[in-house]
Amino acid sequence: MLDPDKALEQIAGFRRIPDTEICPVTESLNRVLAEEVLSTLESPPFDKAAMDGYAVNNSDERESYKIVETIAAGDTASRPINPGECGKIMTGAMMPPGADKVIRVEYTEELDGQMHVTQPEPYGNVIKQGENLKKGEKVLTPRVIRPQDIGVLASLGLTEVTVAKAPLIGVITTGSEIREPGEELEPGQIYNSNGNQLCAQLKATGCGFKYFGIAPDEPERLGQVIEKGLTECDILLLSGGVSMGSYDFVPGMLRDKGVEIFFHKLAIKPGKPTLFGRRGQCFVFGLPGNPVSTFVIFEVMVKTLVYGLMGIDWKPRTAPGRTMEDFKRRETIRAEYLPVVFDAGEIHLMSYHGSSHLNALSETNALIRVDRGVDRIEKGTILHARFI
Ligand code: AMP
Ligand code: MG
Repeated sequence: MLDPDKALEQIAGFRRIPDTEICPVTESLNRVLAEEVLSTLESPPFDKAAMDGYAVNNSDERESYKIVETIAAGDTASRPINPGECGKIMTGAMMPPGADKVIRVEYTEELDGQMHVTQPEPYGNVIKQGENLKKGEKVLTPRVIRPQDIGVLASLGLTEVTVAKAPLIGVITTGSEIREPGEELEPGQIYNSNGNQLCAQLKATGCGFKYFGIAPDEPERLGQVIEKGLTECDILLLSGGVSMGSYDFVPGMLRDKGVEIFFHKLAIKPGKPTLFGRRGQCFVFGLPGNPVSTFVIFEVMVKTLVYGLMGIDWKPRTAPGRTMEDFKRRETIRAEYLPVVFDAGEIHLMSYHGSSHLNALSETNALIRVDRGVDRIEKGTILHARFI
């Protein structure tokens, strides 16, 4: 049984500089930005009003001003502002020459072409040219693209962005008892949750995936689909059939197909039978079939490879919290992941019956890890919750 930290180190060692491709900004959510993005312009590109009001010169302090024109967003002023004058200005409009302050409309009254100040305006209410961004300034570094990053890219006028080519990831679910949702279940059969779940986990990473369906626990059919997966994909994920049962053909079949096995069996709970290997350009994970195991091993192992092949040293989002219950266990040889609810710095252990208890994952928002050798965690211990 390999230590999970050693396993992760080994997986992280496959990080590489990825091939890149051009992607429309509108399609780039969750893709991996491959290059630094420098600002192509100043933001804002001109001094602009931050409020609806009246543009005046700050040094020209008086009770009333003559309104010389109205400046809407998108307009340019037709004349400068002289002493005693103001321009009625809207949020986002370019400041007229000679004005450097906006008295907000709420602090004024307008009568017969004059603006009267009813309350002193303490702020300038002008966003200065280049205040947010200078031309040539670094705006984004390689990262997973989030909605706000898409906003930034669009604000620079960009329509395309260079992203890492996503690896093609294949998903094979194994098990003669597994049926797809929508089909009728016969006695002894269960629905395939891992197929949809793994594909969804992959979608969330912005990668393309190919779903190969369910392979029964029969060496010949399993061998055919594994061969197809190994030939077509950059990463192949198999769920089920990877442990010690009489029908767990996956490890033997992978060996027969020439896969070099880097590890098989991890000191981790859930997910002990996890297998990791490679044939040629294709990496392979054999994930245990229990749905919580599949989910957790994807989260704590597979993601590191997926992002590593796109050039990213991916780290999960975590937060420190205080455990609200005692936790005890007998076996300490494995590191154990437990689903928890993290709320306002508190970590709540939930009812969790083990790796087949999939709905426990839906009721939680984080995982905690109980390290190897640890047999109890007392209430009040500070741990890092890892968001899922
Ligand atoms: P295995 O790893 O094939 O020994 O399967 C372990 C457990 O997970 C068994 O109870 C299987 O029925 C269940 N299981 C295997 N594959 C799936 C799947 N795709 N969806 C839901 N449960 C599964
Ligand atoms: Mg099975």
